[in-house]
Amino acid sequence: MIDPTLLAKYEPVIGLEVHAQMLTKSKAFCMCSTEFGAPPNSRTCPICLAHPGTLPMLNENLVRFITKMGLATNCKIRERSIFARKNYFYPDLPKGYQISQYETPICHGGWIEAELPDGALKRIGITRIHMEEDSGKSIHDFGVDTLVDLNRAGVPLIEIVSEPDMRSSEEGYAYLTAIKSIVTYLGICDGNMEEGSLRCDANVSVRIKGAEKFGQKTEVKNLNSFRNVKLAIEAEIERQIGILEEGGKVLHQSMLFDANKGVTRPMRTKEEAHDYRYFPEPDLLPVTITNEYLDEVRNEIPEMQRARRDRFIAHFGLPKYDADVLTVEKEIADFFEDAVAGLRNSPKDLIKNISNYLMGDVMRLISEAKVSITKLGLLPLHLADLVSLVGDKTISNKIAKDLLPELLSSKKSPSEIVAERGMAQVSDDSALREAVKNILANNTDNIAKYKSGKTNLFGFFVGQTMKAMGGKANPTLLNEVVKEELEKL
Ligand code: ADP
Ligand code: ZN
Ligand code: MG
Repeated sequence: MIDPTLLAKYEPVIGLEVHAQMLTKSKAFCMCSTEFGAPPNSRTCPICLAHPGTLPMLNENLVRFITKMGLATNCKIRERSIFARKNYFYPDLPKGYQISQYETPICHGGWIEAELPDGALKRIGITRIHMEEDSGKSIHDFGVDTLVDLNRAGVPLIEIVSEPDMRSSEEGYAYLTAIKSIVTYLGICDGNMEEGSLRCDANVSVRIKGAEKFGQKTEVKNLNSFRNVKLAIEAEIERQIGILEEGGKVLHQSMLFDANKGVTRPMRTKEEAHDYRYFPEPDLLPVTITNEYLDEVRNEIPEMQRARRDRFIAHFGLPKYDADVLTVEKEIADFFEDAVAGLRNSPKDLIKNISNYLMGDVMRLISEAKVSITKLGLLPLHLADLVSLVGDKTISNKIAKDLLPELLSSKKSPSEIVAERGMAQVSDDSALREAVKNILANNTDNIAKYKSGKTNLFGFFVGQTMKAMGGKANPTLLNEVVKEELEKL
């Protein structure tokens, strides 16, 4: 832990570079599939294998996706931007260069608002967002040999570079959360950090509080979870403060975060831009963006998370907590709205009941099945039907809860299942009264005890009747009838 008095003396400065893998069907510059988990090197062709004489062709969806991201992050979109070659040698980079953008990234000068734990919004600048391609993958765990899988070579990425606007690991975490929400709402990236669809490098420096100039920064590379981003930033702040306190100098280095030990370590001295020998890519035309294209893409941008959450609170009367949980994933929020629309009538408590089912049982089923809500097999209309059946007292909440898992493998609606199995609860006064009388007649001993003061036996009579009726008695009515019949005795 950092000594709090030292921390108070220094101010951390953080800027994040985030790579997001685009959900296009094919690669950035060839027709190969981007499908994950295919046999090694089976998603390759002469273009992404860099055979001599082959030429790249730009995937239009990559341009569409990055334009969407730029608009959603308040960036300016360049009318004309070009690709550049970033040269370096690595076994998993067959061309010997990566196609990227350098001086004219397609998106620049934007900002987003990150929500801090206390609910405050912090504006963080976006320096640039550019297009590039992924490299292949070296696999070192085969004894002495290193193997190369080029399925990933040429998969489209966007790189989102922030301004050095963050001042704590919490702000870094909040920024990354906002980026993930934006890319997943736009449907351009699945946002999964653990699987590498989102990758983050954290640039960190510290300066004496009040100082005008930034301190020397380092770059912590390849952070693969939200938690590690936060921990790595904290560890690096601590390391730098330690160096400065001893009168040392922070070096311009790339760092690796050791998640087991919770410390950062130098990886290599940082390469400079001139090391890459950037030059304009001669095999691709400049990308030109027209106003009509911008309008078209702008129309594809959905309502984003925070706006949707606020609408859920205002329009459906949901507590903020519910609205937050339900809107983290767009698909869950969509499901919620479809289910609410399917309610037979929609008083506030039924809407809240839909929310309760989603946040509780449905999310548990999702995590057990390890699938997204769209693959779970539950239809929004079936959840609406189930909650409506509870609402009009056809079934109890308990029966509804038991029925829910069955809906995943059933084509039948809850109404159909309830009708078929005679599960509707008995609200018929005379049938209930008959059953209660029966139970009381067989429990004369307990009635005597009840009358002499053991009033908690009331629950026993209710329970016995419910059991005799196979759980189908309307609970409110049952309570009333038991009370009436006991009073008559
Ligand atoms: P480099 O040339 O090392 O890649 P850039 O100027 O391109 O550096 O910035 C890369 C990232 O580092 C950006 O996200 C930027 O906000 C951040 N950054 C720049 N200077 C600092 C600093 N002094 N402290 C922390 N982050 C910084
Ligand atoms: Zn290919
Ligand atoms: Mg840079």
